[in-house]
Amino acid sequence: MSVRVVARIRPLLKQELDKDTIVTAESPAGNDAAPTVIRMPNPKNENEFFSFQFSSVYEQEATQQQLFDGEVSPTVKHLFKGIDVQIFAYGVTGTGKTHTMRGGKSLADRGVIPRLLSNIYRRCRKVEKDTAGATQVEVALSYYEIYCDRVYDLFEPPEKRTPSGLPIRDNGGKTVVVGLTEKPCTSLKEFEHLYDQANINRSTSSTKLNAHSSRSHAILCVKITQTTEDTVRVSRASAIDLAGSEDNRRTENNKERLVESSAINKSLFVLAQCVEAISKKQSRIPYRESKMTRILSLGQNNGLTIMILNLAPVRSYHLDTLSSLNFANRTK
Ligand code: ADP
Ligand code: MG
Repeated sequence: MSVRVVARIRPLLKQELDKDTIVTAESPAGNDAAPTVIRMPNPKNENEFFSFQFSSVYEQEATQQQLFDGEVSPTVKHLFKGIDVQIFAYGVTGTGKTHTMRGGKSLADRGVIPRLLSNIYRRCRKVEKDTAGATQVEVALSYYEIYCDRVYDLFEPPEKRTPSGLPIRDNGGKTVVVGLTEKPCTSLKEFEHLYDQANINRSTSSTKLNAHSSRSHAILCVKITQTTEDTVRVSRASAIDLAGSEDNRRTENNKERLVESSAINKSLFVLAQCVEAISKKQSRIPYRESKMTRILSLGQNNGLTIMILNLAPVRSYHLDTLSSLNFANRTK
């Protein structure tokens, strides 16, 4: 079991070009090595600076390709050895989580998810070729969101949703979502179609449920099954675009919002505890304490976890940035 916590600073948006940049990346001891430290001023005393250490840091100009090559691409070979991989994007709304995970339309802008799938399909073909067809590889997808602790299938059209969400059940020590669609998917092209369609479901159902997508966790699970004459090997890659981590107490706090906020805060808190326990190699990982970590069985089998902490560089995010960094800090 291992975890990498990395930070990514997004570039300034058009409307921010005249704003102060307060979050910077630094190399340890100021040498020429790649940066691993994030530095920002104390909001209460701007002459004082806080530094936070990461496994790696991606600066404003870092491309989607650099992030993928640095963090995600190396995990694909482990995935095919039967090891599960989980990739989380954590951060305040507007810091680049969806950009990091899904990305834009152009090839260069594609995020972690389409790049991961592209890599997986390439490897499937390689395995089948290298074993002269003796190993068959199948890929199946599920895609769901967790909103207010309820699970909704994103492969189902919104009108088919039950408001209370799908039930989860323990099945021989594993937690399963009952009734979740699992779609076989044989090519990148097919993936892109399914994924785009599901993301439309996500936004239309968000309006219906009055849930903004920034207030739910979106979880894509890619199940890889490798079958030979006498073995079956199953592994899963999960990519999670988390709900915004902003301090909800400072935003509107009507009743519905409070229910949302406490569900978000609780699940992010449990996630932080799990990541901390994994990184400290503790034997007890409190993954059962939130629905998301429970469904993911976070840290239960020899998996690799990558936490990408998305940060905005400007002062308007100052307090939220500090609390994001403190979240990441406890995971070391
Ligand atoms: P979040 O999902 O965390 O709310 P988004 O991914 O929607 O944030 O990003 C907010 C805005 O910043 C979007 O307009 C997005 O295109 C832009 N953005 C985020 N990260 C980058 C990046 N690395 N390069 C260019 N634009 C980015
Ligand atoms: Mg988003």
